[in-house]
Amino acid sequence: MTTANTLNLDEINAKLDRVHPAEIVRWASETFGEPKATADGPAAGGLIMTSSFGAESMCSIHLAISVVPRIKIVVVNTGYLFAETLSFMQEMRKRFDLNVIEYHTKNDPVVWLTVHGEPDPRVRKNVDACCAANKNEVFDRAMRELAPAGWLRGVRADQSSERGKMQVVQWSKRYNCYAISPILRWSSRDIWQYMKEHDLPYHPLWEKGYVSIGCNPSTCTAPVGEEGDQRSGRWAGTGKKECGIHLEPGDGGVG
Ligand code: SF4
Repeated sequence: MTTANTLNLDEINAKLDRVHPAEIVRWASETFGEPKATADGPAAGGLIMTSSFGAESMCSIHLAISVVPRIKIVVVNTGYLFAETLSFMQEMRKRFDLNVIEYHTKNDPVVWLTVHGEPDPRVRKNVDACCAANKNEVFDRAMRELAPAGWLRGVRADQSSERGKMQVVQWSKRYNCYAISPILRWSSRDIWQYMKEHDLPYHPLWEKGYVSIGCNPSTCTAPVGEEGDQRSGRWAGTGKKECGIHLEPGDGGVG
């Protein structure tokens, strides 16, 4: 199985760029295989996926489990997720028998706010510091421990200009693995059609105008108006568009 930066990405992206996402997941499964047991830690290598259990997450999850039913689904719990996200995740775990692995922040969420001069839990004054400590550290730790060879993620090119520059398959120097984005070329309409066809639920807050859902402070996740891009409700007004998980060194990301 492929474990290092040896694939011909120009050739692979030319082949996979416009195929159905299920084909991309199949290619990734055949290329990277399953994680293998290690002597002193969790199984490593192989193909994993990450999910935020956000608005349209069930589309990516369903595509992945249709090919790899027991794929590891890594979730970062920052300590500041919406209660609706946690209950939605539990419901989906039961309904689809999902193999979810939750990684938590090392910080007590209440203490962290006090120590870092954040008196109001409903907003964040310093979003970069909070994301670095409670999201990026957690994600970096998960990726270090699980050391996947391939990582399925649910980013879409039309969500923001930053994501518009991504490729379906990319080498991630930061995580030392391939990042694969099966639904990169899909629109909201494609997602909606797939969700309808497979009777998949949206996140409960989706109906209230939340199209990209992260943490619960209003500075981090807000409903999006007609004119906003898909990510405009995230850290609105701060100029920040990404928590940093999908950024590589040199992109200006956190952590
Ligand atoms: S999205 Fe907001 S609450 Fe969540 S880790 Fe980042 S700054 Fe903190």
